[in-house]
Amino acid sequence: MSQTATTTMEAQPTSLIAAPTAAVPKAAKPLAEGRATLKDLAVDLACAYRLADEWGMNEGICNHFTIAVPQELHPHGLADDAFLIIKYGTLWSEATAKDMLLVNTKGKILCDWGTGCVQPVGYASSPASWACASYDPTAFNIHKAVHLRLGSAGAVVLHTHMPSVTTLNALKPEAGGRILQVHQNSCRFYNNVAYDENFGGLADDTSEGCAEGDRIASVLEGPSQHRIRAAFLRNHGILIVAENLWEAMDDLYYLERSALFQVEALKAAGGDMSKLAIMADEVAIDTYKQWERFRAEGGWKHFIAHKRRLLRKDPAIHNLL
Ligand SMILES: [Zn+2]
Repeated sequence: MSQTATTTMEAQPTSLIAAPTAAVPKAAKPLAEGRATLKDLAVDLACAYRLADEWGMNEGICNHFTIAVPQELHPHGLADDAFLIIKYGTLWSEATAKDMLLVNTKGKILCDWGTGCVQPVGYASSPASWACASYDPTAFNIHKAVHLRLGSAGAVVLHTHMPSVTTLNALKPEAGGRILQVHQNSCRFYNNVAYDENFGGLADDTSEGCAEGDRIASVLEGPSQHRIRAAFLRNHGILIVAENLWEAMDDLYYLERSALFQVEALKAAGGDMSKLAIMADEVAIDTYKQWERFRAEGGWKHFIAHKRRLLRKDPAIHNLL
């Protein structure tokens, strides 16, 4: 694939060991055709940020996506659980590979692509150190908790305050604050989303462990036979998890579209729930099964098409300096 050729022809960052020979992480395949490097994952993640920005899902310099990175891809072979996280202060619209920090679950930055100046944990304490690479502690607390709880089922974690989903989160369930089966897109999320009704403030505790982060992550567990793909966080936003980036991004897109149609329908009905055309359960279930049949391929083709366009539009997404 052209993307692989492009990335492997470029110089590798000095902080990276040689290309991995071990099993390829699900998060990277098949975008990197079985030979993913840490940089491949960082480029994919930067593309995801730019795409979500185009979709209007960003909010300031907040909200965050992470990808779990297997140990064989870590610099110097460090045997830590770690994930890529965006550098605090990066606009999604300008994200590049160098803005994706590799951080372990203790909060230590393992790779900053050689930029040198690193803020340990949390927000910088003085303006003099604001230029240092750091990450949002709320991002770290929430995403670390999800990665540790879900393992490969949560290899990719997306968190946004995307407008229509967040609007539903501002409504009580009886007023429509749930995904209802009012459109075929909604059926994609039939019975695989969870709702957290216990918002407890910002997850910004930088001491060991963060109760709010752990609590949010626990919402995604669900019964073992019942995969939860998204958690609606009342008064807050959404968490989406998947084994790979393309399915997570496809869920992000279709969940926001589902919520958009529902919000618009509620507005048109003046908030009268009885006027919503909710489909029969058996139709919703059959439509869900139809979605499942092409979920993986559809997600991959959707993401790779945008990635191709984004890299053509701005090759600087590959930049590590
Ligand atoms: Zn948030």
